[in-house]
Amino acid sequence: MQPPLARPGPGVHEHDTRLGSLIRANPLAILVVDAENRVEMCNAAFETLFGYREAEIAGIGIESLIVPPEHAEEAAALSRRGLDGQSSQSVTRRRRKDGTLVDVELTISPLGDGPATRTYNIYRDLTEQRRTEHHLRAQYAVVEALAQSSTIEDAAPRVLRGVAEAVGWQVGAMWIVDKTANQLKCIDLWRAAGVDARLFEAETRAHRFPRGVGPGRTWAMGTPAWIVDVTKAEHFSRRAGAQAAGLHAAFSFPMMLEGEVVGVVEFFTSTVLESDDTSLRMFAALGQQLGEFIGRSRTQEQFERFFTMSQDLLCIAGFDGYFKRVNEAWSRVLGYTAPELLAEPYMNLVHLDDRDTAQVEMARLATGDAVTMENRWRCRDGSYKWLFWNAIAKPEEHIIYAVARDDTVYQADHQLKETLKMRHDFVSFVTHQLRTPLSGIKWMLDLASNAENPEEAKSYIQDARESGDRLIGLVNDLLHVSRLESGKLQVILERVQLPELTQQVLRDVAALVREKGHKVVVDADPTLPDAMLDRELLQQAILNLVSNAIKYTPPGGRIDIRIFHDGDGLHWSIRDSGIGIPQAGQARLFEKFYRADNALTVDTEAVGLGLYLVRLIVERFGGTIACESEEGQGTLFHFAVPVAPGER
Ligand code: ADP
Repeated sequence: MQPPLARPGPGVHEHDTRLGSLIRANPLAILVVDAENRVEMCNAAFETLFGYREAEIAGIGIESLIVPPEHAEEAAALSRRGLDGQSSQSVTRRRRKDGTLVDVELTISPLGDGPATRTYNIYRDLTEQRRTEHHLRAQYAVVEALAQSSTIEDAAPRVLRGVAEAVGWQVGAMWIVDKTANQLKCIDLWRAAGVDARLFEAETRAHRFPRGVGPGRTWAMGTPAWIVDVTKAEHFSRRAGAQAAGLHAAFSFPMMLEGEVVGVVEFFTSTVLESDDTSLRMFAALGQQLGEFIGRSRTQEQFERFFTMSQDLLCIAGFDGYFKRVNEAWSRVLGYTAPELLAEPYMNLVHLDDRDTAQVEMARLATGDAVTMENRWRCRDGSYKWLFWNAIAKPEEHIIYAVARDDTVYQADHQLKETLKMRHDFVSFVTHQLRTPLSGIKWMLDLASNAENPEEAKSYIQDARESGDRLIGLVNDLLHVSRLESGKLQVILERVQLPELTQQVLRDVAALVREKGHKVVVDADPTLPDAMLDRELLQQAILNLVSNAIKYTPPGGRIDIRIFHDGDGLHWSIRDSGIGIPQAGQARLFEKFYRADNALTVDTEAVGLGLYLVRLIVERFGGTIACESEEGQGTLFHFAVPVAPGER
């Protein structure tokens, strides 16, 4: 342990020994000087900070020891004020024994009251504080540079400049690992104004370094590296350039992505600098951040490439009804430019007939379901294309990701094949259906011509006539269907009253009802408004439903017809106590030629066109039709039509 004020200069002995021990033990660097600024004593902290031993500087003027020439005047002024009895403070720089500079906060105070014969100088080392400030600035510079850039090439000049300026270095270079060549390639170099680093820049940009050489050493090691003075480092290949630019210390750190080095950043400064742990740690962290940015921007680039290359239509759309992004395939397929597509609510481009289903699917998307759908989109030239979609949404972000394929050719081909197949099926079906009654008629007429008496002949002719009626009925149905399907049937809208129309139908089938012994009850709302509909078509629809109820209900059954209206329009329903419809057949009931199994035995000659026709008619008037049934328990058919339908 040192004695207080050991080996003192003149006069210090007179001081309070307690003050002496305070100075000795103080963690701040303290120096006591006489009126001529000569060293009287210093403490251990001073020795550590400046590298001088007390013994070697005692009695020597401090200007020559620790004041850099550019601070001489300021130092003299501070010392004068101290000797005048005033304390003062300054943030400044002093020089160590080894010539390096150190940032300090200097306080000079007189020793004793009033004008003094000596002062004490307290130096607080600001190195750490400065370093922290520099680091913060460097980190901020990197964050800012990355936020403003989409690729590492964009970011490089900003990162190099920002970091170099923050830590006061003169040159920075960024290298990227070229995996194919297995070399480091310089992507950018930044140099401070006033530094003649042209040769160094040329050398750096021209050079490729393999792993283990130059910046490739940092690549090989995967950790930050420091060269105290490149002009003295044998292995430093760009020495000539560094010398010409007056660069000495060099520092490099790797850019890391998932544990792999993807690049290296180097900085050079004109002073000779020792490495320090906090800087190494901070730059290692920056390297991590830069590496991850490279990873992200590469993923982004890969995604962008697929996005542009894709032949499929890719898009990101908002729940607000607008596209956020579309790829080039959209313009190729539909003919719009990307800005045109982004400006238009996307539903406007969907074919009117497909919009309702599209809306339903959109609603499903909003609940997070993945959706596939097919719909027609209007092209710029007014034509339509079939798009087959796969879509999924991120409901919390109100965003839909979707891929669509132009399915027009497939659809056209598919539809053509379907049409040809249907035509073929239809022709063979109809041929069959017509041949049976026609053969029957021929057979009856043969019998009639060979009949032994006129009574017998008359009865055969009567049977032939009934078969003929059936045939006419079938041909009429087929004609109706074909005209309704092709839209060629002319619709005549007139005021009709559903109850009156129903009664008319019931009169036409009264004989049949009587024959089967059914009870028919009609419950019609007396306040029912007239409807604007085609009388003949509606009568046909009601007739088909009533005939079915009569036909598919065993003798002595009950048939209830209800006619009423509500906000949705006019409702017409018929309930019978008949054979019912098996569950499996109910979904296909309104298809052309469909017949349920249990109906085949009841009527062997029916063809399965009646309900299809009813559906075509009801839908033609913008209405809907439905059925409820249970096998053996009877059936309910129900249709609703608007009072004044928008004809479709
Ligand atoms: P069709 O009566 O000529 O077979 P429809 O198109 O009128 O053809 O009816 C299709 C099928 O629906 C019938 O074959 C039958 O299976 C079933 N169906 C229709 N109406 C009824 C009903 N009221 N009760 C039971 N089944 C019915």
